[in-house]
Amino acid sequence: MASARIAKAFTRRSLTHRFTATRTQSLFCCQAHQMSTDASSAAARLSSSGFIRSQGFIGGKWTDAYDGKTIEVINPATGEVITNVSCMGARETNDAIASAQEAFISWSKVTAAERSKCLRKWYDLLMSHKEELGQLMTLEQGKPLKEAIGEVGYGASFVEFFAEEAKRVYGDIIPATLSDRRLFVVKQPVGVVGAITPWNFPLAMITRKVAPALACGCTVVVKPSELTPLTALAAAELSVQAGIPRGAVNVVMGNASEIGDALLASPQVRKITFTGSTAVGKKLMAGAAATVKKISLELGGNAPCIIFDDADLDVAVKGALASKFRNSGQTCVCANRVLVQEGIFEKFADAFSKAVENMKVGHGFTEGAVDVGPLINDAAVHKVESFVQDAISKGAKVLVGGKKHSLGMTFYEPTVLTDVKNEMILAREEIFGPVAPLQKFKTEEEAIRKANDTNAGLAAYIFTTNMQRSWRVSEALEYGLVGVNEGLISTEVAPFGGVKQSGLGREGSKYGIDEYLEMKYICMGNMN
Ligand code: NAP
Repeated sequence: MASARIAKAFTRRSLTHRFTATRTQSLFCCQAHQMSTDASSAAARLSSSGFIRSQGFIGGKWTDAYDGKTIEVINPATGEVITNVSCMGARETNDAIASAQEAFISWSKVTAAERSKCLRKWYDLLMSHKEELGQLMTLEQGKPLKEAIGEVGYGASFVEFFAEEAKRVYGDIIPATLSDRRLFVVKQPVGVVGAITPWNFPLAMITRKVAPALACGCTVVVKPSELTPLTALAAAELSVQAGIPRGAVNVVMGNASEIGDALLASPQVRKITFTGSTAVGKKLMAGAAATVKKISLELGGNAPCIIFDDADLDVAVKGALASKFRNSGQTCVCANRVLVQEGIFEKFADAFSKAVENMKVGHGFTEGAVDVGPLINDAAVHKVESFVQDAISKGAKVLVGGKKHSLGMTFYEPTVLTDVKNEMILAREEIFGPVAPLQKFKTEEEAIRKANDTNAGLAAYIFTTNMQRSWRVSEALEYGLVGVNEGLISTEVAPFGGVKQSGLGREGSKYGIDEYLEMKYICMGNMN
């Protein structure tokens, strides 16, 4: 982790340096400058309306790091520093846990109907501030404003859904084995929850955890990514305005491993819920063993997108585009390998390449439709570049893109590669960038074997007009989510989660609330 943090710090410095160095040069600079003005005015507006918070949130109070340290939050599209936020560690986390524990005593006793009302109000506030939250997200994460506002709606939908589910946490009555007994099952909140979230969905990954936790009476300590803490802090402020008691939602950010270790070590934290890389997820799973915590993990994917000869070409192109290029390819459910049957390969490659060539790359605040924004930082660009170089060196051919975009900074061209083979790194690891590798296959069996030949098991997509095949292949795929003739499948009403090394547990839907509940069996004797 130390090396990851140093890499991030270096990335920050190099971005800031590069921004300053190139400001007076070339046409690109004029575009960047124009854009940076838009970003700056958005930042100024958000700051003056109180939307940009720079302190952590502990026990309902905005709090500096105890040693006064701060950390820069960078706009990935321009390299500019948006603000400096508190860089917290173990001591602040322990205080946040203590606040959450204190709040748990009362919040867990509030009626489900009251908790539901607070969550509903939080949903209303998130939605009524969707423009500001979207702008904040575009500033710190880079995704196009329309997509960012879309994420606010998606993120808020979990709050609305679990506001409703709060009232449906039912127990059971079990027919007794002895006539003088009555047997009951009640469900109770697990306790204080540590929620650790990534930068690619700065709001939705938080609400998908915090909403069900609050709905059933848990309290939370949220650790957002240090790259995107601002949306999390703004959402926390709105939670208090919604009437969720101070201390029920705490936010600490900064030194990830210190915060993580404090959450793991505390016996008061009864559950860790994590979304992020498989490597960090494994560390947290091992660390949670010491205090036997409940754990949910939403980890990385390596999604196959299978196009069969009998697919509707337009539907397949549209679906593959949506699943591959959303958030510049930086989602865990992005198509990572596009497997295309030989009979449709040429037609699909041609139509898909044309559609990719037409995608607009740009700054998130650009007027008009932008399809692809920047990557999160230099490290992400280097990773994508190295994967593409590895593929080319092993025989892949570039149909579209294949290099950094002329906009500079962390923009990368939407890319299509063909002649991709299994031994290439991008066929085996998560690309997390706008690169679509096309692989040819002959038979359905071969497609299933290739699709399942990975330790990941999050999302998979198939495109076919054959009803029997769609069932057969869906059932054979070792994945937690399958999209049939559809590239965008996430919704608050359906269970989201992976199998194999993509994770444990499910988020969203009626199943998602179980992750925050303990079951208690009560046996009442002497009842005659
Ligand atoms: P990451 O590096 O694992 O970081 C995720 C979170 O963990 C961040 O808040 C990070 O903090 C924190 N963290 C890092 N090291 C830690 C440690 N030792 N102890 C405790 N916390 C620690 O992942 P990422 O790069 O942000 O996100 C991309 C990954 O998330 C991809 O693999 C993607 O597939 C996965 N993802 C999965 C889902 C899903 O639902 N399955 C959804 C979205 C993303 P800092 O950022 O502050 O260092």
